[in-house]
Amino acid sequence: MVYWPLASSHFPIQTNEGLEWLGSEALRRLPWLRHGFSLRCGGVSARPAEGLNLGFAHADSREAVEENRRRFFHALGVENLLLADLQQVHSARACRATLAGGAVAYVSAARSGPDAATGPLAETRAATLQSKPEADILTTNEPGILLAIRTADCLPILIADPERRAIAAVHAGWRGTLEGVTEAAVFEMARSFASKPASLLAALGPSIRSCCYEVGPEVEEAFRNRSPENQAFFLRPNPESRARLDLVAANLAQLDSSGIPSSQIHVADFCTACRTDLFFSHRKEGALTGRMMAVIGIAQP
Ligand SMILES: [Zn+2]
Repeated sequence: MVYWPLASSHFPIQTNEGLEWLGSEALRRLPWLRHGFSLRCGGVSARPAEGLNLGFAHADSREAVEENRRRFFHALGVENLLLADLQQVHSARACRATLAGGAVAYVSAARSGPDAATGPLAETRAATLQSKPEADILTTNEPGILLAIRTADCLPILIADPERRAIAAVHAGWRGTLEGVTEAAVFEMARSFASKPASLLAALGPSIRSCCYEVGPEVEEAFRNRSPENQAFFLRPNPESRARLDLVAANLAQLDSSGIPSSQIHVADFCTACRTDLFFSHRKEGALTGRMMAVIGIAQP
């Protein structure tokens, strides 16, 4: 089975005020939507997170990250949106961001995904949190909120529903992908906003690709234990070499089985590990490297 989308995938590099980022041509056509995938060029951080590091870390100063974020949000024209982000834990858990008293709050369902309780029971289990929740899917249908996912090799996925004006941002590493994080995101949009999968647009940003993503036998086994068909996501250049995981193919399969037409799925053709001139790569540069951000928000009317 081939999961590669049929639509050509245009992710031109955008420029504003001397800062560059990647945007999806398909998402840019929605006038109410703001989005972008950051690049590493144009920031003030020093080694080992040299460039536009957008993640707070011991190896970088808070002031540098705040200045980088200010530049990125200003270039995108989203500085008036309130940032919503997560403690990313490689799960398939979802949270809905909402505005409460001029600040972002997070509504987390106790369980998410196709097996979760829906309706009144799900609502009673939901908890509203002021601090960043542990989850890997953020959704909203409210203007004024900027959903953000931080990555340095993991796959960021942005989803928009042009009919219901709802959005999602997804963090998909191998563990989240194994747990069905992308399928869970589409399910959450349907549950929270009555989104129809057939209407959704999805943009898969830069990530480590199968050219570079060697994984151990335990990863291959974990995927195979879920379904023998998952073997299709592992490549081996020759019988003796370690397996390489095709994270994009695995998540395209989830989008496909969720019912999003392939013509509405767009993939940025960049490997973060191959292109450390453009991106931070945890695999290539180590844990102290910087973090990119994928952001999506509904503009204030
Ligand atoms: Zn590569």
